Amino acid sequence: MPLVALDPILPAAQTGGYAVGAFNMVDYASTLAIVRAAEQLRAPVIVQTSVKTVRFWGCAAIASWLREIAGPSPVPVVLHLDHCKDLAVIEQCIAAGWTSVMFDGSAKPFEENLALTRRAAEMAARAGVSLEAELGEIGGVEDDKSVADEDAHLADPEKAVLFCQNVRLSAFAPAIGTAHGIYKGEPKLAFDRLEEIARRTGVPIALHGGTGLSDDVFRKCIALGCAKVNISTQIKYAFIEGFVDYHLAHKEYEPLKPLEAQIERIRREVAEKIELFGSAGRAA
Ligand SMILES: [Zn+2]
Repeated sequence: MPLVALDPILPAAQTGGYAVGAFNMVDYASTLAIVRAAEQLRAPVIVQTSVKTVRFWGCAAIASWLREIAGPSPVPVVLHLDHCKDLAVIEQCIAAGWTSVMFDGSAKPFEENLALTRRAAEMAARAGVSLEAELGEIGGVEDDKSVADEDAHLADPEKAVLFCQNVRLSAFAPAIGTAHGIYKGEPKLAFDRLEEIARRTGVPIALHGGTGLSDDVFRKCIALGCAKVNISTQIKYAFIEGFVDYHLAHKEYEPLKPLEAQIERIRREVAEKIELFGSAGRAA
């Protein structure tokens, strides 16, 4: 089916008490692996692109892969732009066919973040695509942005409510103590804050920094209102290790074999997450 926005699938997840996985693609093969996993489990799925990946391949190539892979697929697939601070890149991606975008103004003061997010919302609304925004700073490294753990400040529930009242969002990413990359110790999540923000804003919550959280933490976050769960770092590891492990074991120089092993590794890990998040069998 044609690519869809977040709106038909996240409110359904919010109501149904499950979450839709959002997996960062790297290239054509990883996109194929993500969508294959969703098809086998009859789950809606979000394929996300970092700005870095968009710059690497160009908008047109990525959009064409997604149309080719998702077009004949029976499951709903969203093409979402992850963490974008540049409205010009958002405009380019929307023009190329992205069905969802995230504007990340979290490093700016509240008023400026809100004003820029509202501009992104106007662009998204004009094109009929969905918008995610962030408040507070999620720790770790994402593209060129690095937030030291001690600087990662949590989203304030009062400000979160004010933010969501002033801009129409399809997904909201408040900082609740998760971090991008690999966790060094046990992450301390502010579950009370997550619960309060989800309840008072009513907006489906996007959980960032999903790689490395325990199954119990995922289940708890989903029960408290997370309807979109981002998995990026784990895909990067599966992408590299799936290929390299095959080569080290077989020492062959037929590239399609390690490539198939890589696709299978990513597919398996995405499928495990889809099962965990409860979205299997939820494709309308
Ligand atoms: Zn993120």
